[in-house]
Amino acid sequence: MFGIVPKPLWERQIAADALNRVAMDMNCLLIRDTASGRVALVETGAGSKLTEKQKRNFGIDDPPALLAQLATRGVRPEDVSLVVNTHLHFDHAGGNTHLAGGALVATFPRASYVFQRTEWQDASAPNERTRGSYLHDDYAPLEAAGRLELVDGEVELLPGLRVERVQGHTRGTQVVRVTDGRATLLFTSDFLPDRHHLPLAWASALDLYPLDVLAAKKLLIARAAEEGWLVAFTHDRPRFGRITLADGRYAFAEVTE
Ligand SMILES: [Zn+2]
Repeated sequence: MFGIVPKPLWERQIAADALNRVAMDMNCLLIRDTASGRVALVETGAGSKLTEKQKRNFGIDDPPALLAQLATRGVRPEDVSLVVNTHLHFDHAGGNTHLAGGALVATFPRASYVFQRTEWQDASAPNERTRGSYLHDDYAPLEAAGRLELVDGEVELLPGLRVERVQGHTRGTQVVRVTDGRATLLFTSDFLPDRHHLPLAWASALDLYPLDVLAAKKLLIARAAEEGWLVAFTHDRPRFGRITLADGRYAFAEVTE
């Protein structure tokens, strides 16, 4: 997760287990458009299709919690009208589909699934480097079911809900920005997976285009700090917070309410 950063440095920020692994969450974001009643979901986690071996390799200890979490908020799968994947890696798109009676079906049967066209192209034709992160079953059945909404660049999906392509982690990664005209929320995606990656040079070895990640971080972290955006990370435990700049260093302060 920390690429070229030496372990003695990153270990001070987050503890590793005996296998050098760090604990990470897979966060999803629920957005309700109160005017139209439409419900959007950003990311679907790793889902329920992983084999025992895959779960062991990735250290995925807990069963999927997304549908139960939605239910506690009064949201049924058929209530979701938009599913946004920041990119199609299995830990973000795994819950897009599930097995029902031996068939792969869309978990959110009435939703359009929104991702960048470039991400779709790259996930559909993975190479030796990217193959381990993309699982065909997470997105191919959606095309067959006519549920794909491929977008290019920056698009407003609902009033105040925008996606924007930010190349770096993958070529077709997108961030999500939500605004009600007063406050703005940025859901970062994996070019900034958690607060530990705020230092500009701290980038993951999983990033396919590291210098693009650096450029994106320079731009978006500065804007988030200057404009006081609420920030939600894809893989952190504090769910929401704000980024501040003091003495040339970015810091993160959790916001719980
Ligand atoms: Zn991820």
